[in-house]
Amino acid sequence: MTKKIFASIVTICGISVMAVMLLITALLNGKTADSAAGHVRNESRLIASAVEKGGSDYLYHTDFDKDMRVTWIDSGGKVRFDSHKDADSLENHADREEVAAALKTGEGSSSRYSETIMKKTVNYAVRLSDGSVIRVSGVHSSFTAQLLKLINPILLILAAAALFSALAASMVSRNIVKPINDIDLEHPDAQKSYKELAPLLEKLRTQNSKVSRQMDEIQSRREQFSLMTESMTEGLIIADPKLMVLACNTAALKLLGAGDFHKGQSIYSLNNSDIFRRCLLNALGGRRSECILRTGGGQREVIASPANSIDMVCGLVVFIMDVTEKQELETMRREFTSNVSHELKTPLTTIYGTADMLASGMVQSDDVAQFGENIRGEAERLINLINDIISLSKLDEDSAPRENENVELFALAEEILDRLKLSAEEKNITVSLTGENVSMPGSRTILSEVLYNLCDNAIKYNVSGGRLDVKIAHAPQRAIITVADTGIGIPKQHIGRIFERFYRVDKSRSRKIKGTGLGLSIVKHGIMYHNGTVRVDSEADKGTVFTIELPIEKKNNEQGEII
Ligand code: ADP
Repeated sequence: MTKKIFASIVTICGISVMAVMLLITALLNGKTADSAAGHVRNESRLIASAVEKGGSDYLYHTDFDKDMRVTWIDSGGKVRFDSHKDADSLENHADREEVAAALKTGEGSSSRYSETIMKKTVNYAVRLSDGSVIRVSGVHSSFTAQLLKLINPILLILAAAALFSALAASMVSRNIVKPINDIDLEHPDAQKSYKELAPLLEKLRTQNSKVSRQMDEIQSRREQFSLMTESMTEGLIIADPKLMVLACNTAALKLLGAGDFHKGQSIYSLNNSDIFRRCLLNALGGRRSECILRTGGGQREVIASPANSIDMVCGLVVFIMDVTEKQELETMRREFTSNVSHELKTPLTTIYGTADMLASGMVQSDDVAQFGENIRGEAERLINLINDIISLSKLDEDSAPRENENVELFALAEEILDRLKLSAEEKNITVSLTGENVSMPGSRTILSEVLYNLCDNAIKYNVSGGRLDVKIAHAPQRAIITVADTGIGIPKQHIGRIFERFYRVDKSRSRKIKGTGLGLSIVKHGIMYHNGTVRVDSEADKGTVFTIELPIEKKNNEQGEII
């Protein structure tokens, strides 16, 4: 803009100066022409009167001005005298306009323009009393010639004018543009600028406040979005079709085991595994796609959905969920089903085989009792197994009735040891119950199963002549039950797994000892049900001690743990 204003001012100045120069030259030219004509007229009259008085000698003895040509022509037009040329060499002048006029009327004038010398000749002729004519010719420069004569000063003046106008234009244009440049586009103030700009500035101000309102709204929506996504436990990623991340919550980074991220970063920088890539590429192809990733020691379910706009995929929405527990439960469920099937099949096969032999009459009458005993034993195993499964599934599903009766632990232990008296005697195990009576709120049925399984194991996995010592103690706000035996013990590497369902330390040896592998699972869940803890201390061939701590004041929201 400054340049345009500058150019306009300089052009106007240049044109103005040129026009003024031309005008002055034209005026001067007019004046010069007039004065030249007047001068020639006066001279011719003066010379005519001098010749009248002094005769033709005056002409031959006068030194005329070089710029003025004096010619004496007789009445027939023949040149008698010429101040510039030999009179005889000149042609007849009778037909010259000014001479003809003077011969006729007494005085005559004319002017002629010579292209070659770019000059104008002004002639004036006066008739003398003898009929001859004195003609005086003078020249003056044409307009173009005068202009050419003045060209240098004109150019000088033009240059000066150009310089001056350039300086002035620069100053003026800067001054014109300054208030426009000074406009604060963020806070336009119509008072501080040209009043012609007021409507524009007002519009700008309205637009500014509209944009600012919209920006605030966008910002608040963005914050709302971020607040919502940040409070999610599921990961959420939104990516463009080039798989550049547009939004990503902290849960997504955590679940994918990724570090920090910045907007516009590739989604692959969060996880670069083949399975993740395939899942995303499938979704980009327009199909919802799912996969399971193993990251950070857990399993993540990834669901990538394409965001469609008309016929195109314009982005991806990726959900990531922690399914570690779900997958573990699923694995456990599968293992449990397969274990249960196996454990049920084994006694049933024996029962079927034995019964089949009895039915076929192949068994001798002496052996029938033994075969019957086998069937009874396997059936008992089946019943025990089914009972354990029922107990466990009740505890698992939390469908065991939430009993909150007062359980007398010492009396309960007494009752259980009484039930196991026979088995203990069979193995020659000395049983003792010490301590004090502690009563606690809880489920008598579940606590009975817990104690029964621990004491039963302490007898089963004991050595002949061994000991089983049960102790009930009272500690601040909790009851402590200790079940110690002097049996075969549990090798260290197995201790961490004995609470797993169907886990038995030594399968071949365990075959001989009746058991389902579910007893300690029931113990674990029973203790968790009561928000208690259980600890195992064992040494192979020396014995095992199970220490249970149960809160006397029941808190429903706590979970027990296995140490
Ligand atoms: P089971 O029905 O086989 O007894 P449990 O779940 O009760 O199943 O026990 C799991 C395994 O832990 C047992 O098979 C046994 O190997 C081991 N175990 C449990 N209690 C004892 C103990 N007191 N002494 C030695 N080993 C034990």
